[in-house]
Amino acid sequence: MTPTWPDRLFIDNEWCAPASGKWMPVVDPASEEEIGRVPRADADDVDRAARSAARAFEDGWGRTAPEDRGALLNRIADLIDARKDEIALAETRDMGKPLRESYGNVARSSRTFRFYAGAVDKLAGEAPPVGPDGFNFTLHEPLGVTAHITPWNYPFANACRSVPPALAAGCTAVVKPASHTSVTTLMLGEICREAGLPAGVVNVVTGSGGETGAALARHPLVRGIAFTGSIDTGRRIMGYAAEGIRPVVLELGGKNPQIVFADCDTEKAIAQTMRGAFTNAGQVCTSVSRVLVERSLHDAYVEALAEKTAALTVAPGLDNPDLGPLVSASHLEQTAGFVGAGEREGARLLTGGRRPEGLDRGYFIRPALFDRVDPASTLAREEIFGPVLAVIPFDTEAEAVAIANGLEFGLTSGVFTRDIDRAMRVARDLKAGMVWVNEWFQSPVQVPHGGVKMSGIGREQGMIALANYTQVKDIAIRIGA
Ligand code: NAD
Repeated sequence: MTPTWPDRLFIDNEWCAPASGKWMPVVDPASEEEIGRVPRADADDVDRAARSAARAFEDGWGRTAPEDRGALLNRIADLIDARKDEIALAETRDMGKPLRESYGNVARSSRTFRFYAGAVDKLAGEAPPVGPDGFNFTLHEPLGVTAHITPWNYPFANACRSVPPALAAGCTAVVKPASHTSVTTLMLGEICREAGLPAGVVNVVTGSGGETGAALARHPLVRGIAFTGSIDTGRRIMGYAAEGIRPVVLELGGKNPQIVFADCDTEKAIAQTMRGAFTNAGQVCTSVSRVLVERSLHDAYVEALAEKTAALTVAPGLDNPDLGPLVSASHLEQTAGFVGAGEREGARLLTGGRRPEGLDRGYFIRPALFDRVDPASTLAREEIFGPVLAVIPFDTEAEAVAIANGLEFGLTSGVFTRDIDRAMRVARDLKAGMVWVNEWFQSPVQVPHGGVKMSGIGREQGMIALANYTQVKDIAIRIGA
């Protein structure tokens, strides 16, 4: 069951070999076996892709009739749905996640294309009143060539999060997936061509961040950058954007707190802690990574979490376990390092944090639950991006909010309570781009997604994301006598 994909770059609607003549291995994280290769694009390849995207823009992609552009986006969505088995299989083999999660990601991706297909003809400007002698009106014009640099945790869905609004706005795109997980983004290129997108509207260049990604973010023809990834890289991307005075959207990391009050629906809260912490083996920017539990509920809550965590299945993604392997050997090592730090710093490891028995190959680790984590410790402060959950007891609402807000992250956060006033108060006071009440992962395509503080700048999803890919032009008309 090895999926197939062209081991070429996708530039100008053609498959082409990398100028460098170099490739990178594609490794199945469940078996550590090499299952193929993808090209390593260098600056020359990136330049070809950017030129192709610039030509496609100049040739009029941004001026296509809205209904035609919308129809093409819907056609891409149809083709994604039609090829869902192939894409989901490739995602699981390449990235490791359980197959059913890959299917969910693919469904979300086609949904995003459909949402923005419907948005194409709604990019209306304004005509503010300027007095009797004339009119001013605004146009939302596309930026031109946009760069899309994505992380490895949701390879297909992340490419399909920023590319659809860019295309809807009339921009063209060059996409650079993460080096560990490039396969399904190449498939997206192929789908765009099959759907009938003109040459150059979507290009895919694979390679390393330092070489391919940097060449793309710094390319003079790129007029806007959509970046999803770590804070360190985001900082670099901002620097590259500054060189060319280009706007940038940064979707970065989180250390997301779930605050659980004793008056909540406990069963529901526990189910959401488990789902929030261990979906995609915790490799989610919006994972629950700190669960703050009111002290009177703490012992019972932790006991239930420990039992459920210990019962989770860990196996190759194709077997549809609760958790698949982590994405790479280095990420496994890093995650295990956090488990060691937690133990050294005196938190109580209740379960997990070790290689599962019987799985000698593959980047597997059992989900780890730590209790009584000191809010000042490494476990409570750093993004782990793996299946490691830290429980922190609290006594008062004010204390919980202070702990939740006490980091430089501010992506998402959650509050679980039956007290509506408390829910509203805490939601108001939490410093995060998203606050979820009595639920987790409530971020469908129509609502804005993004963080505050060091978790990012700007928003993806929703109508607001169209602003990432447009600039406003004001046209003034004076009425002659
Ligand atoms: P990363 O920053 O290492 O890499 C992200 C992308 O940037 C990759 O394509 C990489 O090749 C590229 N890159 C690396 N160095 C570069 C450079 N110098 N110039 C240009 N591009 C470069 O992140 P990652 O490890 O792939 O992903 C994990 C991170 O992503 C976590 O911090 C996670 O929270 C974050 N994330 C955020 C969101 C969100 O929506 N806020 C979603 C998913 C992941």
